[in-house]
Amino acid sequence: MTFSGLLLEQIAGGVAARIAELEDRDLPVGDVLVRVSHSTINYKDALAIRNRGPVVRSFPMVPGIDFAGRVEASGDPRFVSGDAVLLNGWGVGEERWGGLAQRARVPGDFLLKIPRGLTPATAMAIGTAGYTAMLCIIALERFGVTPGGGDVLVTGASGGVGGIAIALLARLGFRVAASTGRLEETEYLKSLGAAEVIDRAALSSPGKPLQRQRWAAAVDSVGSHTLANVCASLKYRGAVAACGLAQGLDFPATVAPFILRSVSLLGIDSVRVPREERELAWDRLARELDPARLALITTEIPLEDVVAAAERVLAGQVRGRLVVRLPG
Ligand code: NDP
Repeated sequence: MTFSGLLLEQIAGGVAARIAELEDRDLPVGDVLVRVSHSTINYKDALAIRNRGPVVRSFPMVPGIDFAGRVEASGDPRFVSGDAVLLNGWGVGEERWGGLAQRARVPGDFLLKIPRGLTPATAMAIGTAGYTAMLCIIALERFGVTPGGGDVLVTGASGGVGGIAIALLARLGFRVAASTGRLEETEYLKSLGAAEVIDRAALSSPGKPLQRQRWAAAVDSVGSHTLANVCASLKYRGAVAACGLAQGLDFPATVAPFILRSVSLLGIDSVRVPREERELAWDRLARELDPARLALITTEIPLEDVVAAAERVLAGQVRGRLVVRLPG
């Protein structure tokens, strides 16, 4: 059977992306064949598609670190034809073919049934970014952060992780401050549940090792000086869940906030989370994320627009989440 997919191929001096006609026999081995209806463009996908970082480990590659759709055929007893399923992480779209194609074949261990309350479209509106926001919040809750403890800062607020973190935290009763470089998005961020919007310029340059104690907790998808300044302005015994590098991979900080204020840095990876924790995170997303707010965050695009959209993601020009609708 032939189908369409975005294919990344190595060429002299770089990587070329094109929409190709593929066949089932091109797909990697795996026990479940999925008819993909929706995928997304996460920041990591944009890096892969525009060849801006070492994301893709082998070529040719179908990118797309997450997808949702219906099972077409399964050799895994946990799944039958027609089941609505989703996948995020596990090196899909990096080490093995991913979601930006009409069909995918994967090990059943990588798949989750889409929880009640979500559809393939809304599951991908959440996608890896929203799921990572949930992992950050779960980590902060396990640390002991509660709504009564003080304000929570969300950086990279107009992006995918940021927008869903704001909506979830507000729904859980936290007072949320959103940091953004796009102050023109203030009304949007307030409509997601932010109580206060601050200019990211206040956080993105080198700052003092210890600053005024402002935040009980934070969700940071930006890294670099921003993360260092967040650590320096956490309240005594506060915590930041750090998941991203939109400003940079570096962490130019001192140990002062850790040894003088007992603040904690909680690292968040979304790729290799054990199955039980994934199910918990997705179940909570299905129950706790307001569908109206998710709709505000989401823009749907066709496969043909993916390469141009990836460029806009890297330029910080996309608001919220981009869902890719696969044809058919
Ligand atoms: P988006 O591109 O949707 O959002 C990133 C946001 O970061 C932008 O919207 C912008 O927000 C802000 N930003 C961009 N450039 C800069 C800059 N130079 N300085 C400061 N802020 C900047 O990405 P996602 O939300 O999908 O992902 C965010 C980060 O999290 C990425 O680095 C991604 O790789 C990482 N990530 C990590 C995961 C993990 O497993 N650890 C999983 C998912 C994502 P604004 O305009 O509001 O300032």
